[in-house]
Amino acid sequence: MRDPRFDILFQPIQIGPVVARNRFYQTPHCNGMGNLRPQAHAAMRGIKAEGGWAVVNTEHCSVHPSGDLMPEVLQMLWDDGDIPPLALMVEAVHEHGSLAGVQLAYPAYYNANRMTRDVPLGPMDRPVSGHHPVQVRAMDKSDIKALLGWWKAAARRARKAGFDILNVDGNFSTIAFQFISPRNQRTDEYGGSLQNRVRLLKELIEVTREGGGDACAVSVRLIIDELFGPEGLRVAEEGIEAISLLAELPDLWDLVVGTWADDSPTSRFASENDHEPFMTGIKGVTTKPVVGVGRFTSPDTMASLIRRGVLDMIGAARPSIADPFLPKKIEEGRYEDIRECIGCNICVSSHFAMTNLRCTQNPTMGEEWRRGWHPERISTKSSDATVLVVGGGPAGLECARALGQRGYQVTLAEQQSRLGGRVTLEGELPGLREWLRVRDWRVTQLDKLRNVGVYLESDLGLAEILEFDADEVVLATGSQWRADGVGRAAFKPLALSADVPVFTPDDIMGGNIPSGRIIVYDDDHYYMGAVLAEKLALAGNEVTLVTPAADVSSFTINTLENIRTARRLHERGVGMVTHTALTGTHEGQAFFVDARTGTKGHRQTDALVLVTARLPRNELFAALTSRLEEGQAGRLRRVSRIGDCEAPAAIYAAVYSGHRFAQEFESSGPTLRRERINLAA
Ligand code: ADP
Ligand code: SF4
Repeated sequence: MRDPRFDILFQPIQIGPVVARNRFYQTPHCNGMGNLRPQAHAAMRGIKAEGGWAVVNTEHCSVHPSGDLMPEVLQMLWDDGDIPPLALMVEAVHEHGSLAGVQLAYPAYYNANRMTRDVPLGPMDRPVSGHHPVQVRAMDKSDIKALLGWWKAAARRARKAGFDILNVDGNFSTIAFQFISPRNQRTDEYGGSLQNRVRLLKELIEVTREGGGDACAVSVRLIIDELFGPEGLRVAEEGIEAISLLAELPDLWDLVVGTWADDSPTSRFASENDHEPFMTGIKGVTTKPVVGVGRFTSPDTMASLIRRGVLDMIGAARPSIADPFLPKKIEEGRYEDIRECIGCNICVSSHFAMTNLRCTQNPTMGEEWRRGWHPERISTKSSDATVLVVGGGPAGLECARALGQRGYQVTLAEQQSRLGGRVTLEGELPGLREWLRVRDWRVTQLDKLRNVGVYLESDLGLAEILEFDADEVVLATGSQWRADGVGRAAFKPLALSADVPVFTPDDIMGGNIPSGRIIVYDDDHYYMGAVLAEKLALAGNEVTLVTPAADVSSFTINTLENIRTARRLHERGVGMVTHTALTGTHEGQAFFVDARTGTKGHRQTDALVLVTARLPRNELFAALTSRLEEGQAGRLRRVSRIGDCEAPAAIYAAVYSGHRFAQEFESSGPTLRRERINLAA
């Protein structure tokens, strides 16, 4: 049963003409499916509604071709032909009794109109963001009038699609905020004073209401602090005042802090509820419901924010991705079943990859339609086959859990005295503590499954596995970091001399830690190099991170972490050298070549930490495969590998691999449905 202190989260709330059945508001979020994969998109949003989110929003929805968001996979309402894909989503959301919201947007500086080739329009003549050699043309009065007309038409189409809430987007990447920011230097009645700068937002709210009619609520998503220093909008100066100027005009305020990287920081850099200081006081200037985000997963934090009058609704994108059933689980008092977001932003990376959303914690995310996966349900077993899973890292844990959920008799054997594999080790590194949730959620679920036996300190070899006599063996034995320098830049082992000791991430996580002047060579380009550099610097060493890439931790551009990573390394005193490939070591020196110019150089060093690539631990796979080929494997009918044991990758890939094995085991379900363009139309 639910604790009564969380009842407040289940009180309905009026949003203009509509009523949300509880306080859970899925804020707009990108998903890489958008209008290119409308069935996948609708299925994903529908599952959020099924999981109890009272309001489910789209992502950015462009109102006009001159505000083209391509190639990003988002939404558009340029003409009536764009209504059906969105109506599909509305239907899926309504089916579960939730309200559907659409985020109407016009990107202005944010995009270069790469598809339509229209000249982008915005507050001032200036370059678009990114590196496109394109400028925005400053809008005159007739452009503003045209924009209001396009917006109203899009609102009318949104109503036709069946949306309940029409959102005027005032995010960092859209026009309403670009006018409000003090960086708007216009000299007409749309620039200068705050009163003038909010004029466009006011007019956009008005035309949205006209287009949407009486049955639709109008909400505003707005930045209240740009985090841009004195040149940007600051909550204490103009942020709250901007809201008070338009206080009662919309039916709901959904508030944002800074850019996407500020609004969705990873757990390495911010904890749950980091926006609260910005939200305090907003409710004093408006009677309309206020929504805020903060990667909320704790029902206590959520209930407290509402009880203390900071927020009226709990906004969430990432927590709703990691667990679409979060509201239902709180409602039913199943708190330990909440699959808590770990704050890794792999979900964000799928937007930049422009492909189906993916999540480290929730392997079914983005697969609802194309593979028919559901975050809570899975088909029951189709035989009495017994399965031995070897290795209790993220892949093995998820595989055993999902096979167990299907009802199979599963044994999970782990060599170490604790479960979690690499997650347990990496969770001890600076900033990665929340990643332990990948292990903890699965261990909690495994504890509930009587048909899964878990054995620790079980280092299985070929003989033990054959002796176990299972029908199926799944190897999830993981990988180990290479110590020879092979990575992206080097295809063969580097010439490394014994007088420069070499350490790998496995050494450091195992407690074998270098000291003195240390070079961390990062040819992996994700978080590991930077996190180890930070750890070694915190221990008082003189650390330099060297990478052949153009940026430190370059993949983390996709997880919105690269600037914060560089800043943190700088604060810790870590030197950073980019575009530089290691060629070898000799007599206390590490030798490098500049990846652009070919210039050679060297550095004195006491130790070299190689973060380059990993090798799968797959000896057992080879041994078992030959036994099977020889017909000497007893009852065993098949051996499979999953996760890093098959091909080392990030944690999300290991979880997915374990889950996929369990889904597809003795199953004839859909493998990969695709959405094709219908040429006949
Ligand atoms: P993944 O990310 O693919 O799950 P991990 O490296 O995190 O990989 O986990 C692999 C796990 O397998 C580790 O916990 C390791 O101790 C365990 N393991 C490796 N070899 C064996 C073995 N022969 N018997 C039992 N457990 C093993
Ligand atoms: Fe959270 Fe990571 Fe999943 Fe995104 S990918 S929802 S940050 S666990």
